[in-house]
Amino acid sequence: MRKSKFTPGGFKLAVKRASAGRGLFAQEPIPKGACIIEYVGRTLTEDEEQNSRSRYLFEVTKKKTIEGWNKKNTARYINHSCQPNCEIEIHKKRVFVMAKRAIKEDEELGYNYGKSYFDSFIKPIGCKCPKCAPKVHAARGKPLKKKSLKKKKKA
Ligand SMILES: [Zn+2]
Repeated sequence: MRKSKFTPGGFKLAVKRASAGRGLFAQEPIPKGACIIEYVGRTLTEDEEQNSRSRYLFEVTKKKTIEGWNKKNTARYINHSCQPNCEIEIHKKRVFVMAKRAIKEDEELGYNYGKSYFDSFIKPIGCKCPKCAPKVHAARGKPLKKKSLKKKKKA
């Protein structure tokens, strides 16, 4: 059987500190056109969709929206980018993140979240993507230090 274009390639990825909170980084080169990861989540009912305040909603089709806030969904760490190296493809009502161009090792993954998300959530706080904030972005890619989350004891 031929492998589908939409089978994630099993590339090494890592969640690291990014200019916009956390981000997902390639840990090896990814060729252009490769399927990187699937955006997975629970399908919401129409009611849930109307009332949800989640920022991880993904409208797959007019009638299907999934909620991506779950541990399995590593793709939720991918930040918005105005000059993205990834793009979304919908296949059989599933959401796949594809490499828009060749991606280097240690590059942060990004795709365009679309205008309505951008206007509601990103514009008000300022976009921190590589194109809009190159200086902030240069400080990205540092591993997350778990210890720094704990408060230090006073001496
Ligand atoms: Zn931007």
